[in-house]
Amino acid sequence: MSGREALNVIKEILGSTEIFDVNYEAGEIFKEVCGSHPLLVDSVTAEALEKMKSIALKRAEGYPLQYIFGKWEFFGCEFFVGEGVLIPRPETELLVETALPALNENSIILDLCSGSGCIPIACSKESGCRAYAVELYEKAFSFLEKNIAHNKANVTAINGDALDNSILSGIEFDVILSNPPYLTKEEMSELQKEVRFEPETALFGGDDGLYFYRMLFKLWKHRLKKGGIFAVEVGDKQAKDVKALMELEGFKAEIISDYAGIERVVKGSI
Ligand code: GLN
Repeated sequence: MSGREALNVIKEILGSTEIFDVNYEAGEIFKEVCGSHPLLVDSVTAEALEKMKSIALKRAEGYPLQYIFGKWEFFGCEFFVGEGVLIPRPETELLVETALPALNENSIILDLCSGSGCIPIACSKESGCRAYAVELYEKAFSFLEKNIAHNKANVTAINGDALDNSILSGIEFDVILSNPPYLTKEEMSELQKEVRFEPETALFGGDDGLYFYRMLFKLWKHRLKKGGIFAVEVGDKQAKDVKALMELEGFKAEIISDYAGIERVVKGSI
């Protein structure tokens, strides 16, 4: 069977579902198994076809492609992912882009609620800065440790609670970052099928979704160096509230939008 024919078999399996971008996902499955673009493969083995079919069937049940592959790319780095850790999302790259202009080899940064570690690892690889990453949950923490080693990043993983600001005492940071859980109670009840496989502890931000912002700014602002920056990812329609929460804690804050004009990051300096 040719590459193109095999691709059509996968597309047919995915096409019977609610998957948003069947062409893209079918292409990713093909590349993962065959290591090349479908048009560049003139003959697919029966074994490879079976493997692709079984991946497509699992995906058709709503299971995230990223968990099936066990790895995903973020900011040009490869991250191991699986059940128990939030999948790195493209919108989070804006948080890294926001931090980078403030970073160099001498900077020390902290990432709270770190999950896979995609934020501190990308920042450290790009700028040469030293990073600390705090993650509470055991499964996520083991992905964090694996990802630091895999990317040979200058990041120290701390298995602790971001709501306990006594950890890392004695260190002051140039930049503190976080993509905390921020979905509201209502959003949690309407999650897409795929997202339901991801840990609730990485998604749910209290009834109004703002719990972690309220706590983190208050708890960690004293740990920033003078002129330091605190930047966070925010959920849809949360930017103004999060900016106001930062201002209440004495920050000078601004909202940063992504390329699609969506307000996605709030950055404050103190
Ligand atoms: N962006 C994620 C989602 O919409 C939520 C991540 C988070 O809560 N930090 O599913």
